[in-house]
Amino acid sequence: MNLTSAINHSVVAERMDLSTPIQFVKGVGPSKAQLLEKLGIKTVEDLLYHFPRGHQDRKIVLLKDAVPKEKQAFLVDVQSIEFLRSGKMLGQARALVKDSSSLMAAVWFKRLSFKYDVFSALKRDIIPGRRVLLYGGIEHGDHAPELRVEDYEIATEGTDSGKIVPIYPLTEGLYDKWLRTLAFRIVAQSSGQVFDPLPLTLRQKQNLSPYVQALRNFHFPPSWSERDRARERLAFDEFFFLELALAINRSQRDQTPKGLTYAVKRNLLTPFRKQMGFEFTVPQTRVINEIFRDMQRPTPMNRLLQGDVGSGKTVVALSAALLAIENGYQVAFLAPTEILAGQHHLSLARLFSGLPVQSELLTGSTPSAERKKILNKLKEGKIHLLVGTHAILNEGVAFDKLALAIIDEQHRFGVRQRAKLLAKTGNPDVLIMTATPIPRTLAMTLYGDLDVSIIDHLPGGRSPIKTSLTTREQAFTKIEQELKIGRQAYLVFPLVEASELLTKKAGKLISAAVKEFDLVQKRFSNFKIGLLHGQMKAEEKKQVMDRFRMGHLSLLVATPVIEVGIDIPNATVIGILNPERFGLAQLHQLRGRVGRGDHPSECLLIQDSTDEILNERLDLFCLIRDGFKLAEEDLKLRGPGEFLGEAQHGLPLFKVGDLINDGLLLSRARESAKALVAGEMALTMKEFGELNRILQKRFGSKLSLSKVG
Ligand code: ADP
Ligand code: MG
Repeated sequence: MNLTSAINHSVVAERMDLSTPIQFVKGVGPSKAQLLEKLGIKTVEDLLYHFPRGHQDRKIVLLKDAVPKEKQAFLVDVQSIEFLRSGKMLGQARALVKDSSSLMAAVWFKRLSFKYDVFSALKRDIIPGRRVLLYGGIEHGDHAPELRVEDYEIATEGTDSGKIVPIYPLTEGLYDKWLRTLAFRIVAQSSGQVFDPLPLTLRQKQNLSPYVQALRNFHFPPSWSERDRARERLAFDEFFFLELALAINRSQRDQTPKGLTYAVKRNLLTPFRKQMGFEFTVPQTRVINEIFRDMQRPTPMNRLLQGDVGSGKTVVALSAALLAIENGYQVAFLAPTEILAGQHHLSLARLFSGLPVQSELLTGSTPSAERKKILNKLKEGKIHLLVGTHAILNEGVAFDKLALAIIDEQHRFGVRQRAKLLAKTGNPDVLIMTATPIPRTLAMTLYGDLDVSIIDHLPGGRSPIKTSLTTREQAFTKIEQELKIGRQAYLVFPLVEASELLTKKAGKLISAAVKEFDLVQKRFSNFKIGLLHGQMKAEEKKQVMDRFRMGHLSLLVATPVIEVGIDIPNATVIGILNPERFGLAQLHQLRGRVGRGDHPSECLLIQDSTDEILNERLDLFCLIRDGFKLAEEDLKLRGPGEFLGEAQHGLPLFKVGDLINDGLLLSRARESAKALVAGEMALTMKEFGELNRILQKRFGSKLSLSKVG
């Protein structure tokens, strides 16, 4: 039976509406309901939104026409069946089946259980004389080809036509076929009750399928082209509501004056420029102007500053800070790690020396007496610039006149922390900086509410960092050469302690900084070497970093804690062990630790793997210097998790939408959301209400269309 006729005939007219608990649907019951809840399904409506993760083509093929190994569907009559043991814990069911073209063995393998008969369902369903639909691939058996069955169905009228069936995400104890049958009944009976969430004018303008039709066709597609059209509609909706939330957010913000007044006085800016020691590059100047323009507007700035590693974002941010300070305001400067916060604090002291600017450092390891002092001075407005980690976000940290929040290496903070910061700081100007170039589609999604500035080339006079795959010994030789002429180097290991499990999994030794430290020390016995890893106390880390910065250490053996922001211009080589364990964007960050001064620099990927796929990826990395291109590659290779920060631990951002391939659809959704918020679309009362209901359901009560315009 296909879906349309099921809907038309209402064969299974059971009483259920969208809010009916799934437990009370016929055939479910409490224990199955518990399993469904693990999948997030509590009601009939939830099941409608439990989308297939893929579909399979069950168009019926004759046995003689089967393409070997390809999964296909066959409609056959069962002639006989027998059950065998084919190993200690493995059982086998073999049925002789026949269609109009040939006779063949169909085989099921199953792990045996002591507790129950794993073949009981087959014994019930696959009986001689019955017509069944088998789904699977033809493989070579011992003597003749045989069909390895993955799934089956008892043939009913209508099965003959063959279908495209949904493959649902499952959980232990729930079976494909059971869930599919339930979904079929629920989609047939309840999808008609769903109200189309998109306004009619918008849907027509974007040429999208009606929602109910899309729901039905995505669960049980009549054809592949209709499946694609359904998917497009559902993905559009996912993108649209996120973009709508961002657009509303933005419009609300734009209507709230920040109450700060600015004049470009230059009594701090000019001396700062003079003692900086270099001129701003063209893109730095452009970005500073963009930022200053924002700051002088009556509504808050929300700007994302993207610039490759080493492009000089810090001095840009400091210029913004000085503008705020010369107008009598305070600034918060957040860094993701204590090391980085400490480094910023240090370079500030240097760059601001002689200027009447009070800055302090606040991190989790600031002693409490010190902390108290800082907090008092902060409240009295005596501190102009507070540099620190997320400790700045804690309770009890209160500013007198906070006007600007600068967030460095924002991707490290994750989406949730960013929200927390915005909530805490009220309505100041916000400048977010990142060196992880975010692929365009993702940037639009995550930062759709931000203006973007880009520093698109590095300060001149620097040669590109030469990158190559080397052996360990080649790398060590190169490092030694550099150390001998007074340069410094990094050696990066992926883990702190060698992990048994990981070693086993990877099938080879994962180098570990602590364990290898001794070996490295022997190899470089003429030089002073430091060790830096994430599990060290903040104070220890700081000491090591300070010694390296001052040149007391020549070589720093480290885990990726050095990944972000560290700026030591005298360091000219970085060796990275097990580079295959890092994402391309992360490798790019690591590479950016060198090449920050005038000396030519090198990045050495120490690789002993002969695995071609791995090396292909690393070869790519050697060739591509542009962080944006690498980020796009990373997105394709590893998915969006790396860029989403914390979001990767939760549910995926989109169930249907695909950030890699749906870029165009995403921008259509974004344009539509903007037009709607700008009031360029006529809505009925009902449509207006429905949009608000969904916004509130997904994003909380703060968001509502009515607060706009
Ligand atoms: P990132 O953008 O990665 O945060 P930084 O702000 O740390 O980069 O800058 C990298 C290095 O380049 C620093 O040592 C900084 O002082 C230097 N720098 C910044 N701007 C310029 C410039 N216009 N000319 C020369 N050096 C610069
Ligand atoms: Mg930086």
